[in-house]
Amino acid sequence: MSEKKKISLISLGCSKNLVDSEFLVGGLKQESYTFVDEPKDSDIVIVNTCGFLDKAREEGVDTILEAGELKAAGDIESLVVMGCFSERFGTELRQELPEVDEFFGTTDHKEIISYITGKDFSKNDPDFQRSLLTPNHYAYLKIAEGCDNGCAFCSIPLMRGLQKSQPLEWNLMEARRLAKQGVKELLVIAQDSTSYGWDLDPKSSLHEMMYALDEIDGFEWIRLHYAHPAHLHRDMIKAYSEFKHVIPYIDMPVQHGSDRMLKLMRRGLKSEGIKTRITALRDVNSEIAIRTSIIVGFPGETDEDFQQLMDMIEEVQFDRLGVFTYSEEEGTTAAADMKDDVPRHIKEERLDAIMMAQQSINLKNNQGLVGETDKVIVDKSTDDGWIIARSYRDAPEIDNYVRIKGKHTEGEFLNVKYTEAFEYDLTAVIINE
Ligand code: SF4
Repeated sequence: MSEKKKISLISLGCSKNLVDSEFLVGGLKQESYTFVDEPKDSDIVIVNTCGFLDKAREEGVDTILEAGELKAAGDIESLVVMGCFSERFGTELRQELPEVDEFFGTTDHKEIISYITGKDFSKNDPDFQRSLLTPNHYAYLKIAEGCDNGCAFCSIPLMRGLQKSQPLEWNLMEARRLAKQGVKELLVIAQDSTSYGWDLDPKSSLHEMMYALDEIDGFEWIRLHYAHPAHLHRDMIKAYSEFKHVIPYIDMPVQHGSDRMLKLMRRGLKSEGIKTRITALRDVNSEIAIRTSIIVGFPGETDEDFQQLMDMIEEVQFDRLGVFTYSEEEGTTAAADMKDDVPRHIKEERLDAIMMAQQSINLKNNQGLVGETDKVIVDKSTDDGWIIARSYRDAPEIDNYVRIKGKHTEGEFLNVKYTEAFEYDLTAVIINE
């Protein structure tokens, strides 16, 4: 397949998958391939799949089938599948989806590029640079791959392997490169960012890296995601009182609020420990916005366990919260040792109850901001005259927005005053322009 063809890449799943896609696009662009948005306009379609949870796998299969139809109609020549789903279930998928020309795993960038270009990159591996798929003003920095934690519900280590931290210097080099490209907001990600550096020789740590990132010229905002509460080091907490550009935001999935559930989930920390860390974070920086994620309907979750979770949500008042219903994942300890015994409708009811509780927390917090001033980053301006922006409390894609009448370029920072509060979003006007 050496002739230069047009490629369309469909990247599904999380930000970690997106970074993999960006390296692949960078590598193929270096080989002079062009990329198009619409699969029907391409010669080769690459689907980067997500394998975590039923819904994501279904989306992956639907996307592959749609591309398969294009191939059957002669609109595209070749269909390539990569990513977590294909890493984990490659053998089964190969049998079920004969329309796919080749399957690759999560770390097979060189192999995919060799397959498409017809060149052998195994000996002379070029230093592929990423080609960002995010808007130019923000980018993810993936500081480690894989995870050692073995949470009972999670199949990610089965797809991404054990933790492998990127060397500190590599991360800093990549961050400098992104800053030079004009990225204003850097989003630090890993499966468990708080475990960063334990596996390196010499060892490093998240706080060491975040302090070093904080010194890089160019980033206005640096945002931390996927902090495991059990591994959140006191030096990392303290650092939130000292950073210049690392913003007071932490994405820290707590998963539950009942000690019995936390133990069954193998989270390594009780609810009191989680609350102690949250109090410590708020003590060092009263502005800190804490985002979390929760799983409801884990095997054996009783009404009492659920009530304890609700009590924690009311007590802690998380600033942002995402909630998922438990789904049994083949190969996990929960799937092997426990029965998925919470009925679907109870899982859904519990999810709704949490969403309702969080909506009133959000509304109350947002109402408290009306009349206050803040700094926001512009994500886009719409055709009907609105600027869609975010404050430091909101990460792209997963959190909320600030809406402002007007037009500004993406990546600009604006000073605003909040005018109206809703359950998720706020409206604001520009001040000191
Ligand atoms: S820490 Fe996160 S990625 Fe690691 S096993 Fe637990 S849930 Fe999965």
